[in-house]
Amino acid sequence: MGFAARLRALERATRPYDPEFTEAMQRRWAELPDGVKTPAQIIGQHGVGCEGTHGVFPKCNLKCTPCYHSHDANAVRVDGPHTREQVATQMELLRKLRGPRAHTQLIGGEVSLLPPDDHAATLKIMRDHGREPMSFTHGDFDYDYLTRLALGPNGQKRFDRLSFAAHFDKFMYGRRGIERPPTEKALGPYRQRFAAMFRKLKRAHGVRFFLAHNMTVTPGNLDEIADVIRDNHAAGYGMFSFQPAAFVGDERRWKEQYRAATPDTVWTEIERGAGTRLDYNVFHNGDVRCNRTAYGFYVGRRWFPFLDGDDPRDIAVRDAFFRHLGKVNFTGTPPALLTAKVLRVVARHPHTVGIALGWLARTVRRVGTGRLLRHIFRVRPMTFVMHMFMDAEDVAPAWELMQRGETSDDPRVRETQERLAACQYSMAHPEDGTLVPACVQHSVLDPVENAELRKLLPIVEVRTSARK
Ligand code: SF4
Repeated sequence: MGFAARLRALERATRPYDPEFTEAMQRRWAELPDGVKTPAQIIGQHGVGCEGTHGVFPKCNLKCTPCYHSHDANAVRVDGPHTREQVATQMELLRKLRGPRAHTQLIGGEVSLLPPDDHAATLKIMRDHGREPMSFTHGDFDYDYLTRLALGPNGQKRFDRLSFAAHFDKFMYGRRGIERPPTEKALGPYRQRFAAMFRKLKRAHGVRFFLAHNMTVTPGNLDEIADVIRDNHAAGYGMFSFQPAAFVGDERRWKEQYRAATPDTVWTEIERGAGTRLDYNVFHNGDVRCNRTAYGFYVGRRWFPFLDGDDPRDIAVRDAFFRHLGKVNFTGTPPALLTAKVLRVVARHPHTVGIALGWLARTVRRVGTGRLLRHIFRVRPMTFVMHMFMDAEDVAPAWELMQRGETSDDPRVRETQERLAACQYSMAHPEDGTLVPACVQHSVLDPVENAELRKLLPIVEVRTSARK
């Protein structure tokens, strides 16, 4: 390739905006209900929302109360080829409808029941479709599994970066070493051990990682949230996500009055753990009745927001970010390429340099130079999330009406419809070319899907009998 051709290729590669991504975001924005089209809304301004897989490996080897999987989930065999094939067709549809880039969760039952090679092949299929995958696990697997996932049979690393969401709470029974956790605190060493495996992998093989910590909240562990955050914020997780329990999935495992843990009480406990108020109106992900999010970072033991919602100058930074960088695709873009794209935007809009420097100066002042020096400028990004699934008894009628294009007069059903319409977490159905909210998947579609999977992938009992 000649010099001129190389320059042209470089120019193309570093173009800040991908027209396909921009179009996908515009479509998402247009589809959103008016009520969530706020200046803080991320969907349609800097992303298309999250995605997840379904109908792939519903089986799990722990028992949770509550469990979002339907009755039949544990009667379905974990099957690598089925998973790869299903994920490929689901990713094709997501690629078509949601554009070239998105965050997608490899979720089903327990991901580590997949053989490591199948798990790795599935992650590759997701990446090949422009998805940044995150594997969902209960975290009860060993370093050996992690290395066999991260390294191919030849010992070479097959990923530069792995993302996992690990679910830990005391309502999960059967974890090795702590069958029935008495308290959340007792699970602390298991949370730490999980994250330590990834640090070890990084040291040994240079595989970077992102870890999210997930926890179901019921009235039974509400007052333990704060300690979970305080005890584990430095373990290696980059996100703490809390899901108030919903009445969805296997009704045999519904044990408490879950709705007593209201969104406000849960958020207050998260704030207690973070040691500060968490403003969830700086950025919105879909409907705030579904999602509350606070983006920020720790310096030492203190958490600071990236943007202070009470400071109009920081809100102006957010608006400028959406205006100039919103259409730049951050997900899955290598750091050097991302820097080049951002620099091109800055060259086109030089006033953004002043905005960025002003923000930096304010943020340093907020944190304090003394604190930054004491911690040798070690900044650990940390996002706090609360994701509130809805009860199956609300979702089913709301969805049925939506399928008929009807809006309910009943305020409760209408609220459910509004939330579903703004859903930030979708699953693909290639058989009819639709995307559905995860609430609909778990409340309405999973029971039928798992009953069919049970026939397609039965668990074959192997009986051995000793002959005399
Ligand atoms: S509709 Fe359900 S799955 Fe979608 S964002 Fe709201 S709670 Fe989450």
